[in-house]
Amino acid sequence: MPAFNNASTSFSGDRHDHRACVEVALATAARLCLERRARLTPLRRRVLELVWRSHAPVGAYDILGRLSDEHDTAKEQGTAKEQGTAKEQGTAENKGTAEKKGTAKEQGTAAERGTRRRSAPPTVYRALEFLLAQGLIHRIESLSAYVGCVHPDGAHGGQFLICTGCGATAEVHDPRVDAAVTRRAEELGFAVARKTIEIAGLCPPCQGRGEQPDAR
Ligand SMILES: [Zn+2]
Ligand SMILES: [Zn+2]
Ligand SMILES: [Zn+2]
Repeated sequence: MPAFNNASTSFSGDRHDHRACVEVALATAARLCLERRARLTPLRRRVLELVWRSHAPVGAYDILGRLSDEHDTAKEQGTAKEQGTAKEQGTAENKGTAEKKGTAKEQGTAAERGTRRRSAPPTVYRALEFLLAQGLIHRIESLSAYVGCVHPDGAHGGQFLICTGCGATAEVHDPRVDAAVTRRAEELGFAVARKTIEIAGLCPPCQGRGEQPDAR
């Protein structure tokens, strides 16, 4: 278990060094993909990094939006201008306007600049599908959003404590919960496909701010 990326980190707000969480997540992903001979392409890596922007689940369109900002493609698809620049940017990744404009909204790192390419929605979804298949992220059904997995080694069902105040989500694994669900499902002859449990509530910082529970 890494020093970062555990359940309590998720609820520590800005009192923890989140860059360390991201670094651990990316390093773990690189190691696992290498072991599994799965291709963690620059785009897949970048999407994983965007999912890990915080401990709050992020939607596919947010990811797409950020990638688009990086490439400075128009948010509306299919304009002549966009098609023209997309071709250019696709071939000259690290150069010129793509790089300059991309840094306006987000501070670029060298690794990031290497992934700048125009991304169509299917590409983002395929990247998310890959990351899900590798167990590197989880889909939070109640929010239609994705969150990074805190320990992607091996398959697992999980319980997610989701803060309705700030969105921070903690992934916890209580084998007794898993076992209880499995046992009851078996008793009922129910074939379990997914055992993720999503629990809504308020994280400690949000309780401290006097947020009211919001059962959505
Ligand atoms: Zn963090
Ligand atoms: Zn997980
Ligand atoms: Zn919160």
